[in-house]
Amino acid sequence: MSKVVAIDGPAGAGKSTVAKLLAERCGFTYVNTGSLYRAIAWRAFRDGVDIGNLPGAFLDSVDLRYEKGVLLVDGVDPGPALRTPECAAAASRIAVQPLVRKFLLPVQRRTAEAGWIVMEGRDIGSVIFPDAAYKFFVTASVEERARRRMAEHPDGKLSFEEIKKMISDRDYQDSHRAEAPLRQADDAVFVDTSELTVEQVVETLRGYMKKNPRE
Ligand code: C5P
Repeated sequence: MSKVVAIDGPAGAGKSTVAKLLAERCGFTYVNTGSLYRAIAWRAFRDGVDIGNLPGAFLDSVDLRYEKGVLLVDGVDPGPALRTPECAAAASRIAVQPLVRKFLLPVQRRTAEAGWIVMEGRDIGSVIFPDAAYKFFVTASVEERARRRMAEHPDGKLSFEEIKKMISDRDYQDSHRAEAPLRQADDAVFVDTSELTVEQVVETLRGYMKKNPRE
């Protein structure tokens, strides 16, 4: 068993907020794996590398490390540059490439070497840590996820319909790729957060963990 709380689910389901709070309350390290895909996309943009088919030599040149839960790319925290919608869409495009996923597998596995972690992503319970101590699949309706994204960026340029379309496109791309598609692991606990507050979701997860202690 790996000392991992795996939280998987589609874009905009509130995984990051929930995973961060859960990690804080449990005293575990929080690890966001979407940032890894975003970081590679961002670095490829910066270097003018075609993101359609990233070569192995390019991937080997990217140094990705977590320090106290913060992702460093070549030793530097890229900050908000990774959070743009363009970077998210590019991350989703490169995430279909088997070479990229193979490159990121050990990066993710290493993060559990130092103790308990809460790790969020798309394939944590199914591929990265199939033996995770806890597995949750956290989701919400597309409308609700789009509403939440709008609320996060009230002065953003995109309309509700545009955000909804971007989320649906990403859902489709993430769940239809051949390599490690977004799916609920057979032994994951399903949590629909459409009607729940962040607090309620965190406590649902914590309640489950308390009721099902693992060594
Ligand atoms: O979670 P986030 O929205 O930051 O992820 C960006 C993209 O990275 C996702 O749309 C998905 O394509 C990819 N991803 C992935 N596997 C993960 C985490 C993210 O394929 N574990």
